Amino acid sequence: MKTILISLCVFLILIIQHVRIENKQLHDRIYYQNNYITNITTQLHYIDSTRKYVWRHLPIGSPLSLTLIRSKFGNRRDPITRRWTKHQGLDFKGTIKDTVYSTGAGIIECSGWNHGYGKCIIIDHMNGYKTLYAHLSQCIVSEGMYITDNYPIGMVGSTGRSTGAHLHYEIIYLNQHKDPINFIYLNLK
Ligand SMILES: [Zn+2]
Repeated sequence: MKTILISLCVFLILIIQHVRIENKQLHDRIYYQNNYITNITTQLHYIDSTRKYVWRHLPIGSPLSLTLIRSKFGNRRDPITRRWTKHQGLDFKGTIKDTVYSTGAGIIECSGWNHGYGKCIIIDHMNGYKTLYAHLSQCIVSEGMYITDNYPIGMVGSTGRSTGAHLHYEIIYLNQHKDPINFIYLNLK
């Protein structure tokens, strides 16, 4: 009888030990899986914020609330000399009451008078892209300022070499002018 009881006790102790080991292993597995999920979530957040950061700094969309194109990018007769020249940007119709907005986040590289461009703003988007907004009646941002996308930077005007109130808008990528028409209707932000 005594032997049976001892055997039973030993058997029970072994079972309890086994259950304890199983519990510990399960606990460890849950702990590592939780850590793994936390790491993946952190990485996904990082990827998402990087994607948003990249999109925010691309010159996408229109610099005016109302997009009415007056003159396209490419060869055209110069409105003043009547000679064929390459138009390096896009002209939007506008009035001096219209606010001009940044199309992407970046740093104000130039804000003020710029030869034939008149009152002009250049934004460096810090990714190879720059945008230029010309013939403004007013520049309302200063050089060196960091601005977000869709930020008010100036007012439409007719300063410099201009024949009437409009916004001349250029997109420059690594010193090469790009046709803004390929950017203004994109809505990827
Ligand atoms: Zn123009």
